[in-house]
Amino acid sequence: MVEEKNNLMDKIESLCKRRGFVFPDSEIYGGMANTWDYGPYGAGMRKNIKDRWWKKFVQDRDDMVGLDAALIMNPKVWEASGHLANFKDPMVECEKCHGRFREDDLENNPSAGVGAGKCPDCEGKLTAPKQFNMMFKTFFGPAEESANVAYFRPETAQGIFVNFKNIIDTTRKKLPFGIGQIGKAFRNEITPGNFIFRTREFEQMEIEYFIPVPKKDKDWEKYFEDWRKEMIGWIKDLGIDVKKEIHELNVPKDELAHYSKKTIDFEYKFPFGQKELYGLAYRTDFDLKSHGLDYTDEDGNKFIPHVIEPSLGVDRSFLAALCSAYTEEKVKDEMRAVLKLPVWLSPVKIAVFPLLKNKPELVKKAKEIFNGLKTDYVCEFDDNGNVGKRYRRQDEIGTPYCLTVDFDSLEKDDVTVRDRDSMKQVRVKIKELGDYFKYKL
Ligand code: ATP
Repeated sequence: MVEEKNNLMDKIESLCKRRGFVFPDSEIYGGMANTWDYGPYGAGMRKNIKDRWWKKFVQDRDDMVGLDAALIMNPKVWEASGHLANFKDPMVECEKCHGRFREDDLENNPSAGVGAGKCPDCEGKLTAPKQFNMMFKTFFGPAEESANVAYFRPETAQGIFVNFKNIIDTTRKKLPFGIGQIGKAFRNEITPGNFIFRTREFEQMEIEYFIPVPKKDKDWEKYFEDWRKEMIGWIKDLGIDVKKEIHELNVPKDELAHYSKKTIDFEYKFPFGQKELYGLAYRTDFDLKSHGLDYTDEDGNKFIPHVIEPSLGVDRSFLAALCSAYTEEKVKDEMRAVLKLPVWLSPVKIAVFPLLKNKPELVKKAKEIFNGLKTDYVCEFDDNGNVGKRYRRQDEIGTPYCLTVDFDSLEKDDVTVRDRDSMKQVRVKIKELGDYFKYKL
């Protein structure tokens, strides 16, 4: 079973590379361990994820505004937020092979043979755990001296907190309201891996939702529950089967982050195990208080709002959506791999083919159709190889529709439209293509 599942991960990774979704970073120089570049289709899919998140949670709601803060902030931010003191993972090292591991990872993985204090790779003796701060250090400015030490942000959230007052002053938002932000975050993870699941550079989509000071538990629980439902809705949008593939973990008190009173981890059943996809945390007034910020309501009452935080990773959304969409089907004794992605998420919506590339009249007509559709939809023109192969390629990219221009098209001004999932083909008049796709894409 485990073998089968790892096999699935290998297949997804290989499809990502073969079809231009994800490439190993700096590959021509031997790569950079656990670092990845998103190719044309990967970049398109990521953009779809971020655009939809922004539309759903920022643009379409009148209780939300957006922000785009700097990656490297004043180091005092990290002192106040508690990250310098607390953003640490326990690290153990093997005395024999010098492999480094997160102690809590080993504890959660009994097959690693730990507990016995042994290295999961070579069974060598492990050192006692050391606390390792995961923030990426750099120097801000040309002088490499301690006064210039700065950090790449390990979460986007602090950019939101430190701008709280600016946003209130400029947007006049009243509680409850939220600030959403999409951007890169950096963590010097001890054990990155599982393809793009855990990397040192990744992207987050975070919301800090500010609420009045709760008088009773149920006052914040109500907002927490609203956001829990919103997150479930979002996970469904990605094409994930929530009942089968998601587990909600109520994080035990002794494992909560230093700022959290309650956290739910939405865990996804990845092929390599059930792991965190997203987190939802009640951060209390910890952050605004740490930064010395407050809020004055319409009656002149001054207080520190509390915060509910839905925190989503772009890369993990991408990976989970791929895992759920990846399907293998037998078609006439041949195996077809197809990404059954939700239509909005597919990086290409329509592929246009001339039946034969050496027939100029077919190519001309197909180009005309392609040029007519490409301003409304992400389209791809392909005239390489036989049509069957072109279908297989688009299936692996997850393209919902392929149009083929054949000799009948020249006579009847229509094309074949082939559906990715059912593989059914219908003839549609060229002048009706706009209407045909309007309701499907
Ligand atoms: P983990 O327990 O997996 O280390 P975390 O609890 O530290 O994750 P959070 O601090 O809650 O993660 O970060 C919010 C979200 O950011 C995560 O749910 C995940 O989607 C994403 N994320 C966090 N760390 C990484 C990483 N190293 N690589 C990719 N995505 C990440």
